[in-house]
Amino acid sequence: MTHGSTLASPPDGTRRHGGIAMPATAVPSIGRICLLALLAGLLAAPFAFATALPASASAPDPDRIVFPAEVSQGAMVIGKVPPGSTVRHAGRTLRVTGYGSVVFGVGRDADSPVKVEVVRPDGRADTVAIAVAKRDWPIERVDGVPPKTVDPPPGIAERIRREQATVTAARAADEPRTDFVQTFIWPVQGRISGRFGNQRVYNGKPGSAHSGMDIAAPNGTPVRAPAAGVVTLAANDFYLTGGTLLLDHGHGISSNFLHLSRIDVQVGDRIEQGQVIGAVGATGRATGPHLHWGMNWFDVRIDPLLVLEK
Ligand SMILES: [Zn+2]
Repeated sequence: MTHGSTLASPPDGTRRHGGIAMPATAVPSIGRICLLALLAGLLAAPFAFATALPASASAPDPDRIVFPAEVSQGAMVIGKVPPGSTVRHAGRTLRVTGYGSVVFGVGRDADSPVKVEVVRPDGRADTVAIAVAKRDWPIERVDGVPPKTVDPPPGIAERIRREQATVTAARAADEPRTDFVQTFIWPVQGRISGRFGNQRVYNGKPGSAHSGMDIAAPNGTPVRAPAAGVVTLAANDFYLTGGTLLLDHGHGISSNFLHLSRIDVQVGDRIEQGQVIGAVGATGRATGPHLHWGMNWFDVRIDPLLVLEK
């Protein structure tokens, strides 16, 4: 499926990602009438479409609402609304850029459809329904992890809770930066050794779903920022996740990099795409050196594989 023309290159440089590119689903009433007229024309004269298309492509209607028609569980969804609109999804009011771009994440277990409520500046309201394609979540057995990270000693529970709270707080940021519109690049090159969403079994004991993507790479391999952002957390020794780094890409979208052997940046640093931010390691609950790259929209986990260009 090709990109919707409105989202392919909006004025603020928003780019679509391969995993989410689908046609528009919501057309405002005037657009709907035009569409009906176009369809009527198509029925009457098949060649009308060829001449009508370039005109509409060169002058996108700023009043249009554009979201993908269908996304996968775990997708990052970028949409376009009339600037100045109020947009709500999943109990949150989304930050809207001056050009009308919005973003949100669809969780691993999201039911279809997900809905987005848009109220235009003049008060007209629309609800957009986006179909969610179900994915399979195979069981993934991970053997040989340090037993103390599978069954942490009781005395360590408070430490784990405190560290998790720090991560949760960092993920609550809702910054106006739009670094998430970049096409993400691989933070390290390597084989995918663990996929997002798979049901994990650690040393034979069922764990929670895998929250990100594991990429196997030698210890010490430089980790590069997959997109620009600001460092919101840098911890060398978290109990479960070892060397832990969070990068905020704006509008609630963040990346986390776990099990690092080294962290090269500090909280508050502005990072450019491709910049080295740390190094691959095997710290925390890991069987060997790899990069765990996770992504979030606030507390909703999304699949990094879907934001990478295909
Ligand atoms: Zn992992």
